[in-house]
Amino acid sequence: MMNILIVGAGLFGSVVAHELAQNGHHVTIVEKRDHIAGNIYTKEIAGIQVHQYGAHIFHTSNQEIWKYVQQFAEFNRYTNMPIANYRGELYNLPFNMNTFNRLWGVVTPDEAKAKIDEQRAHLRNKKPANLEEQAISLVGTDIYERLIKGYTQKQWGRPCTQLPAFIIRRLPVRFTYDNNYFDDLYQGIPIGGYTKMIENMLDHSNITVELNTDFFAQKAELEAAADHIIFSGMIDQYFNYRYGPLAYRSLRFEHDLVDCENVQGNAVVNYTDSSVPYTRIIEHKHFEFGTQRQSVLTKEYPLEWTPGQEAYYPVNDQENTVRFKQYFDLTKEQTHVTFGGRLGLYRYCDMDQIIHQALHCARKFK
Ligand code: FAD
Repeated sequence: MMNILIVGAGLFGSVVAHELAQNGHHVTIVEKRDHIAGNIYTKEIAGIQVHQYGAHIFHTSNQEIWKYVQQFAEFNRYTNMPIANYRGELYNLPFNMNTFNRLWGVVTPDEAKAKIDEQRAHLRNKKPANLEEQAISLVGTDIYERLIKGYTQKQWGRPCTQLPAFIIRRLPVRFTYDNNYFDDLYQGIPIGGYTKMIENMLDHSNITVELNTDFFAQKAELEAAADHIIFSGMIDQYFNYRYGPLAYRSLRFEHDLVDCENVQGNAVVNYTDSSVPYTRIIEHKHFEFGTQRQSVLTKEYPLEWTPGQEAYYPVNDQENTVRFKQYFDLTKEQTHVTFGGRLGLYRYCDMDQIIHQALHCARKFK
């Protein structure tokens, strides 16, 4: 049996830890934050589970993963049906017949398709030069102007005409009256919060968790004590930024507890006009059908990222893709370290993909 050090008590590190402990290995997790669960951390405020690092909805079509998470939490029946607020007008997302009816008064799918075709006809045979042209060629001008343009500009901090077309490869358009955001077979929110779910994963006599412990502050000692390291921190930091830092987009969250039972009537409302500085407001209690007297709201502000800030979305442009590849090539020499998770592999992954990745990683230590 091995002594394994895991860097990061996020979803990736916690699933790997659970699996290794089950197989008899001794696992120490070091986590630099003062809590477990990484970015899926939820904190109870006024009886409401507040998603501290952005709203997280579990969804998957993988039955094995869905069964796997049920061991650690019971999931509720939450279905994500976000609403877009454009200058006070409300539209359903993802773009579907309810959205088209509200926009144009159309009733049938054929009428909606004709309207979209009419609005993108001028770009029919043109290779999109930027994100604006790409979006219009997919959904036409009205949807682009009201529901995509301002939101995307805020997200990326620059006009859509200056963003590459590849950021939007496809846009979900549905010609049915179906407001369910995800196409997946299964979705829901863990009852009692994600932190409780991770606590249950880590509740094993072979697992020790050390919070407030930055791996890099004690690298030599920690490495010496471990037979193998599983690293879910930032890959560029591991290699001391040899090729320069990998770029991210960041976010700032503003949480407010208010004396109102129900402020916006929905968990997720996107603000798609560029004059509103935040991209969305989350009302957390609606994730769990809460009936508390108060409510907690979170405004989400996109931010330019600088090293040292919380890193959220990798910028997978050409420059950073090449840089990541350089770092990834270095990992091949580090036979005592396995890199994983969203920061270790510099990749946006949904939670089900992270669990899949973690189970695959743990299998190597059977
Ligand atoms: P993390 O959760 O980031 O965990 C890594 C951990 O390592 C952190 O706790 C960090 O503090 C720690 N660490 C880093 N460096 C060190 C170090 N040097 N020493 C010690 N510890 C260290 N997915 C979905 O499926 N559904 C959603 O609705 C959804 N919404 C999202 C919303 C936002 C805003 C974002 C950004 C992501 C969302 N995701 C969603 C993706 C989800 O957050 C990730 O799949 C998941 O959190 C990745 O887990 P991880 O363990 O790889 O990373």
